[in-house]
Amino acid sequence: MSEFESTGIGDAVEKEDIRTDVAYDVAIVGAGPGGLTAAIYAGRARLSTIVLEKHSIGGLITVSDWVDSFPGFPEGISGEDLGERFRKQAERFIGQISLNAVTSIRKEAGRFYLGTERGEVKAKSVVLSTGSEPVKLPVPEEEKFRGKGISYCATCDAAFFKNKIVSVVGGGDAALHEALYLSKFARKVFLVHRRGELRAAQMLQEEVFANPSIELKLNAIPVNVLGDRKVEELVIENVQTHQQETLHVDGIFGSIGEKPNSELVKDLVELTDKGLIKTDANKETSLKGLFAVGDVTDTPLKQVITACADGAIAAVSAEQYIRSLET
Ligand SMILES: Cc1cc2nc3c(=O)[nH]c(=O)nc-3n(C[C@H](O)[C@H](O)[C@H](O)COP(=O)(O)OP(=O)(O)OC[C@H]3O[C@@H](n4cnc5c(N)ncnc54)[C@H](O)[C@@H]3O)c2cc1C
Repeated sequence: MSEFESTGIGDAVEKEDIRTDVAYDVAIVGAGPGGLTAAIYAGRARLSTIVLEKHSIGGLITVSDWVDSFPGFPEGISGEDLGERFRKQAERFIGQISLNAVTSIRKEAGRFYLGTERGEVKAKSVVLSTGSEPVKLPVPEEEKFRGKGISYCATCDAAFFKNKIVSVVGGGDAALHEALYLSKFARKVFLVHRRGELRAAQMLQEEVFANPSIELKLNAIPVNVLGDRKVEELVIENVQTHQQETLHVDGIFGSIGEKPNSELVKDLVELTDKGLIKTDANKETSLKGLFAVGDVTDTPLKQVITACADGAIAAVSAEQYIRSLET
């Protein structure tokens, strides 16, 4: 096989390892819902496909205890089970997913080169589905209580806090949206913000001030989370007086920013000022042949279903792009 000969679908299905001697039709970076859906569509379109995952197959959703919002599961499903189902379905079409981190991406003479510890993967097109990570709450107990009362997604978890007391940490637009959304479920929402005034849009602030369920705790930072097996109390400290106060809460929602995993392509494609990847309706970035999907993009809704939809669109767009190379 020449360097740029296609691997062919059969090879891609049989091989569980990286092949560096040939060019894949599609290299998918990240095996979350977006990447795995792209893999299902690419595999079914008989494109030779490799999925490279640095950590654990299934992506961010696997840390979620329970998912009630993904259609097809009327009783809900655990995030881990959902991730495992995505994996099995993708592997049915493309073979084993490769557990290798991608450390660099470059495009040269119409081909993409993806750096990994096992050598350079070549591909005609790339789907980037690397997700994003919420900035973690700066409390020592963050890891202990993550998923056990500490959450970073009100759309995902608000329903678990019906008639309970929760706290949102943050003062920007996203934090106020989270607080307003949570106030439809929880009986009380504390909004904890480190500055003396909120940073969010004026209209949002007015909505928050007018909401009787939301109580502001300004000039305050979270210092400790207490509880036996689940969150029971949040200790906050006033940054001016250093006085501490204990809030009895069942849940804490962190909303102090997010870090999109877009480092790999920051010099290749257009990003928003928050580092999210800009895409067009076909999920193509500003670099031809490089597609991006899900949470790493400037999508208005970061959920499993939107990542999956993006993945499907990107795979079909990649197929069209590859065909355009042949004509
Ligand atoms: C606690 C919690 C609960 C949630 N609950 C829900 C819910 O109920 N319903 C819902 O719809 N959504 C929920 N979400 C949101 C949902 O998980 C995300 O929107 C979704 O996982 C995004 O999918 P993605 O494919 O874009 O990215 P991700 O799922 O983040 O996957 C990205 C993958 O890329 C990998 N990766 C990153 N960099 C590299 C690299 N350099 N090389 C190789 N691999 C790389 C990562 O390891 C990861 O596996 C929840 C999120 C959290 C945190």
